[in-house]
Amino acid sequence: MTTTPAPAAPGPSDPGRTPAETANPLRPQDEVVDIARDLIRIDTTNTGDNATAKGERAAAEYVAEKLAEVGLEAKIYESAPGRASVACRYPGADPTRGALLLHGHLDVVPAEASEWTVHPFSGEIKDGYLFGRGAVDMKDFDAMLLALVRDWKRRGKVPPRDLVLLFTADEEAGSDYGARFMVEQHPEVFEGVTEAVGEVGGFSMTLPNDLRVYVVQTAEKGLDWLRLRATGRPGHGSMLHDDNAVTRLTRAVANIGQHEFPVEMTPTVRQFLESVSELTGIAFDPNNPDETVAKLGPVARLIGATLRNTANPTRLNAGYKTNVIPSTAEAVLDCRSLPGRNDELEATLRELAGAGIDFEYEIRQPGYETSFDGVLVDAMADAIRQADPGARTVPYMLSGGTDAKAFATLGIRCFGFAPLKLPADLDFTALFHGIDERVPLDGLQFGVDVMDRFISRS
Ligand SMILES: [Zn+2]
Repeated sequence: MTTTPAPAAPGPSDPGRTPAETANPLRPQDEVVDIARDLIRIDTTNTGDNATAKGERAAAEYVAEKLAEVGLEAKIYESAPGRASVACRYPGADPTRGALLLHGHLDVVPAEASEWTVHPFSGEIKDGYLFGRGAVDMKDFDAMLLALVRDWKRRGKVPPRDLVLLFTADEEAGSDYGARFMVEQHPEVFEGVTEAVGEVGGFSMTLPNDLRVYVVQTAEKGLDWLRLRATGRPGHGSMLHDDNAVTRLTRAVANIGQHEFPVEMTPTVRQFLESVSELTGIAFDPNNPDETVAKLGPVARLIGATLRNTANPTRLNAGYKTNVIPSTAEAVLDCRSLPGRNDELEATLRELAGAGIDFEYEIRQPGYETSFDGVLVDAMADAIRQADPGARTVPYMLSGGTDAKAFATLGIRCFGFAPLKLPADLDFTALFHGIDERVPLDGLQFGVDVMDRFISRS
């Protein structure tokens, strides 16, 4: 086990590089580790509260400086004091083609230092991994993008079309002060953008037969956080009472919590299961995709939730005294709708809740889905094949949420492709928001290499 990053050997992994360039000590494969480490050391904890969220301005300034060093002019946008995003355009060879948005968020979820084996904001390197909050979500990709464009700019390389680089605040708390602010208040940043590439995809999964696939996110479930409110007649707890808000609400919550939503396979999920079935020989029965998913090992957790709408009651609030029947009772549901199915989900929930329950959305962000085809998708597949011969790319749907939902509202086709080659036994998805979040150093270097090949052909 190494304790320091082994420099990647120059050679075939450096497409189009001259010997002089190869001797350049600022190789992106080396720089990516330093930049990721610097970013982790800027604590950008997003508490979801502007008074306590921190570090985004410092991180945005760091990014702007890294871009300025190579002559790329970036602009910082503040949605509220300290809540900063940063954007920059790298002009491409063909201005008639649509621009490509490359995006990453700068904020991270909180980390409780006492639970970690290293300090979450120290950027420690050990056993071939860079540790820290944000190591995979998603300062790793931020660093890949910066290392790559710095390298290209230093070498005078021109991308095939305009690149718009955007590093956002507030992704971890719904994007209001980051991506959504940018989309609503600064649409000029996205002028001409036709496609976007960000998280969560591009990482490898090892299938039960040891075959590696790289999942490309082409769809994302919607976020439908719902507050349910029941109203009734207040009264004394000792009396007979037939209009109790708590009873009405809990009946609704129980009905919803116990409901089994039917399987609805979208094109992305179907294509994922068909591809995996073809690659592994695991039988795929379209009438029972749950059975196929259950055989996929650790991948099952990621895919299972994309087969149906979900609605989980997460909070309850009613009453203030044991002998007083309150006039209202509230519950909150964390619902995730399949793309295009959010109205259908709400209709089902209203039916399950019954009469006398008011619905109010805390957050309503519909999902999105795009097709797995076109120049960009081919370029991803080629880049992966070159960097990891024998591996395949397959589309998948993310059950969580990212900034992509905000960009999709502008009609931009969104993909999750932040390439990482991962050890088969690494429980990668558990690292997102997890304790001892870490990224393999050679995975970071692999990511830069793939992005170099991918963007060159984008
Ligand atoms: Zn993220």
